[in-house]
Amino acid sequence: MHAMRLTPIMQADLQHTAPPITIEVAAGEQESFVLSYDAEGEFVLTPDKRSCKVPNRLAAIWSVPVTGGRGWYLVTPHDSIGINSISPLLPVARLEPGDLLWMGNRFWFVSLLSQPEVMDAPAELRDKLCPVCGSELGLVQVVQCSCGRWMHLERPDDPEAVDALNCFLAAATCGGCGRQTSLEAVLIPAVPERMTAALDDDWMDGIDPPAEAVEEPAA
Ligand SMILES: [Zn+2]
Ligand SMILES: [Zn+2]
Repeated sequence: MHAMRLTPIMQADLQHTAPPITIEVAAGEQESFVLSYDAEGEFVLTPDKRSCKVPNRLAAIWSVPVTGGRGWYLVTPHDSIGINSISPLLPVARLEPGDLLWMGNRFWFVSLLSQPEVMDAPAELRDKLCPVCGSELGLVQVVQCSCGRWMHLERPDDPEAVDALNCFLAAATCGGCGRQTSLEAVLIPAVPERMTAALDDDWMDGIDPPAEAVEEPAA
């Protein structure tokens, strides 16, 4: 699965928590989406079909296959939309995992949602070697870590099977990126927990105010 996840962060009022936005794309496809808002003011993402006009368009998000992964781009003419601290954007800006996307006073944390998929080894990889056991990848089914490394996974339903080439799960952590090997979907990077809490008086705990603000008034 290839997907980008926009997780709302720093929401002033958790009673009205906006849901995360997941942008899922098919492997190898170039796709584009329109970000707009509905009558309740919630942001909605819809596939960009030129034939049907989306009202209240704010931005487009493009997803394009590039060597070794996928490039994500934000296209918008609005100066109330930005990435990290930058606005107005150029007509097109690259969206990277870990970025903060904002529109007005709303913020999202940008992650990739990665879920390893068990499959037959792609033709060009069949005679390449598994980095865990050293035998050819084409022998059994394989899985790709989010870092790009391919490993055997013969029996995902029986990870403990001693007679199976379950290299991916047997390795516990990936030798390429060090992440725990798992078939669960994970966010890369994970959203810092503090950012998903409501903005309240404690939000800046542990951060001292600027020196001027704590100076004693002159006698
Ligand atoms: Zn192997
Ligand atoms: Zn890895």
